[in-house]
Amino acid sequence: MTTFPTIASDHLPALLAAIPKAELHIHIEGSLEPEMIFALAQRNGVHLPYDSIEALRSAYAFTDLQSFLDIYYAGASVLLHEQDFYDMALAYLQRAARDNVVRAEIFFDPQTHTARGVAMETVVRGLRRACVDAHAQWGISAALILSFLRHLSEEEAFETLEQALPFLGEFIGVGLDSSELGHPPEKFARVFARCRELGLHVVAHAGEEGPPAYVWAALDVLGAERIDHGVRAVQDALLMQRLARERIPLTVCPLSNVKLRVFPDLARHSLPQLLQAGLAATINSDDPAYFGGYINDNFTQTFAALPQLDARDAWQLAHNSFAASFAPEADKRAWQQQLQACVERVADGG
Ligand SMILES: [Zn+2]
Repeated sequence: MTTFPTIASDHLPALLAAIPKAELHIHIEGSLEPEMIFALAQRNGVHLPYDSIEALRSAYAFTDLQSFLDIYYAGASVLLHEQDFYDMALAYLQRAARDNVVRAEIFFDPQTHTARGVAMETVVRGLRRACVDAHAQWGISAALILSFLRHLSEEEAFETLEQALPFLGEFIGVGLDSSELGHPPEKFARVFARCRELGLHVVAHAGEEGPPAYVWAALDVLGAERIDHGVRAVQDALLMQRLARERIPLTVCPLSNVKLRVFPDLARHSLPQLLQAGLAATINSDDPAYFGGYINDNFTQTFAALPQLDARDAWQLAHNSFAASFAPEADKRAWQQQLQACVERVADGG
């Protein structure tokens, strides 16, 4: 945008809520609210090691990534049938549409389910049906990204890819998530090469708890088109230059970073530095049921804690989210126009 309208700071919360945005870093299993975990456990006769919704919610006092993952996998154990995956994804998409998310690129972790005897087909069909219905009901565009669990072996990732081949048209790319430290991108070089050959988009978590070297390897070894998190890039000046020069998107998740103690608090988050350096940063919710908020909570709390962020940064973050998405170019252009119109409307006090 060449001329940016003046927006009073007291209109900033309204702007953050109203702007159309893409969410590019959301793990669908991380959108399972305790209420839904209990309802699905009851429906499916699954025993949970928590007596009540409150007991489960109070267990969400994580100290690091691993302590979160332990509870996350326990929560996912209630998902057995296609309808369970459908209900989970539809609930997320309805919630995201309320936050003016017009495009969601959703991670799913098939290995979390196939390891429990749930078929790939059950997972993919339930999630896809929710994407189609959410588009019809709320106009939200949604796509799936199959994510490999990095604490498992590359051989197991290959097996998962093999199981997913009949559903190639149902997901747009692959990612890499779960425990980062000790599981560098190099471990998955061959399976990601195969995914690129198949024409799939490639993204990877890197630089959350892991060092900047993991971001370099995600780019150079895996061919990642986007880096999920990447907030530790600020520790490496050369990496920062490259990310800025090549406009490589970072899908930043501020509330997640604080909950998992990547940063002590939002006021010390590296997001302003990333934007200042010209990186294509975006704001996302990661695992919203577990980290205390959906995408608009991430926007409002981050801007409240970092007063140097202004309306132009809000526009930039939303603009970056569309530029970074894997949606068709015509859709991306339309959303950018909606963004522009929204900013002008809020500037006019409308
Ligand atoms: Zn994540």
